[in-house]
Amino acid sequence: MADHCNGNSGGAFKMPAIKFTKLFINGQFVDSVSRKTFETRDPRTGEVMAKVAEGDKEDVDLAVKAAREAFDHGQWPRMSGYERGRLMMKFADLIEEHIEELAMLDSLDAGKLLKMGKSMDIPHCANMLRYYAGAADKIHGETLKLSSQCQGYTLKEPIGVVGHIIPWNFPSTMFFLKVSPALAAGCTMVVKPAEQTPLSALYFAHLAKQAGIPDGTINVVNGFGATAGAALCSHMDVDKISFTGSTEVGRLVMEAAARSNLKPVSLELGGKSPIIIFDDADVDMAVDLAQKAIFYNKGEICVAGSRIYVQEGIYDEFVKKAAESAKGWVVGDPLDPDVHQGPQIDKKQFEKVLQYIEHGKREGATLLTGGKPCGEKGFYIEPTIFTDVKEDMKIAQDEIFGPVMSLMKFQTIEEAIEKANATRYGLAAGVLTRDLDIANRVSRSVRAGTIWINCYFAFDPDAPFGGFKMSGFGRDCGLNAIEKYLQVKSVVTPLYSSPW
Ligand code: NAD
Repeated sequence: MADHCNGNSGGAFKMPAIKFTKLFINGQFVDSVSRKTFETRDPRTGEVMAKVAEGDKEDVDLAVKAAREAFDHGQWPRMSGYERGRLMMKFADLIEEHIEELAMLDSLDAGKLLKMGKSMDIPHCANMLRYYAGAADKIHGETLKLSSQCQGYTLKEPIGVVGHIIPWNFPSTMFFLKVSPALAAGCTMVVKPAEQTPLSALYFAHLAKQAGIPDGTINVVNGFGATAGAALCSHMDVDKISFTGSTEVGRLVMEAAARSNLKPVSLELGGKSPIIIFDDADVDMAVDLAQKAIFYNKGEICVAGSRIYVQEGIYDEFVKKAAESAKGWVVGDPLDPDVHQGPQIDKKQFEKVLQYIEHGKREGATLLTGGKPCGEKGFYIEPTIFTDVKEDMKIAQDEIFGPVMSLMKFQTIEEAIEKANATRYGLAAGVLTRDLDIANRVSRSVRAGTIWINCYFAFDPDAPFGGFKMSGFGRDCGLNAIEKYLQVKSVVTPLYSSPW
């Protein structure tokens, strides 16, 4: 085994019972119409973990029908915001009661670190629900003075039936980024989890029912993108699609929405986020932050800090320390508390990352450390660092979605800003400096939806999150996100006895 692979990679921990593997429609777990199933695999070993009902167009039709009925005639959109918030709080409490089991499901389905699931991902889901639960009774319109003859007001009404399509890298967090504001707004919904990670979404559907959220409000249809996902996007009775995933698929989602009922779409897509480290930064802190920014969650993070720009005065020291530090980054079983990095999600992703590494070598970048798979089974890859990377190389332009850092040198702030912006993406960026003027200038010049100053991955339910450029449009998190799930209606009335 390579140096890095000093964690357990054999899957020696006990598997929990997997309780929910069907579709969840109108408050019931049901088989798919075709009775077909698909396999979800444990990325630690590549072995089949569970067989899950495979939804297709007919199942999407049934789920949308249930959500439509719940929206048009059910209680959820008609409840007071206060009551919706109360049930969402109950839902959040139930999540907290099941942290162990939920974190374990994501670890086994997605190869995520169990300790992070327990301390961050799952608690973050409960926080997200509570944040929006608190907002559910504070959704207001405006009063309108209008002309001398009329006055009016606006109503903010739930947009209707929402289709949420989510990726596999943060199965639980993504579920609640989408579902929480939509619930607060009074919408009903159909969630299509990624085919690689259907398990936690089904568990959440079960907990929502236990919390008293009415049947038909949240429906979950597992299945593949080209079938179940596409059917949701082109459905004539879905009022909005909220999508997180790749830029490539985001384009298909928009096309399907345009060709069907012109439903609005919001897209949270890929990224190639830069971190700019200035000479005055603490080098040890910078190395630690840069390492976590790209290797955490095995680089399978849309905002991974995949392009690291280091100013020339500290560049050599940074390179030396980054190489040393990467050797202490432990790859192995995500259930082992001493491990820093688990396996890539699946064989396809594993092979894709390794191909990018080969590409980097062929393009002339210098492989500083890593670059190989580790362990005999499963989809483990060494934390990898390239130096001498040029902006036009594929590894500096494409979203690799793996533990591959590209290191680049810069001289001036102008050069750093220009290089940081030399990408089709614009999801996030980091800046490390003690100089406030530099931090302010970079923050206002880099075209990205989130700028982290002297920190990275500092997420909060209250901080809007989303992309510029081909990283998409629309925001998750923050009060802005509720607006995606609301319609504004103007109500106008004459001031005096009507001349109309
Ligand atoms: P993906 O685009 O392949 O799949 C995402 C979801 O879309 C899955 O549920 C999939 O089944 C579905 N899908 C696939 N084809 C579809 C189609 N034709 N119609 C409708 N749905 C379809 O992405 P992925 O590989 O699951 O996730 C990785 C990507 O997600 C990366 O690009 C990453 O940057 C991005 N991502 C973005 C954010 C963000 O907030 N911006 C967060 C996490 C991941």
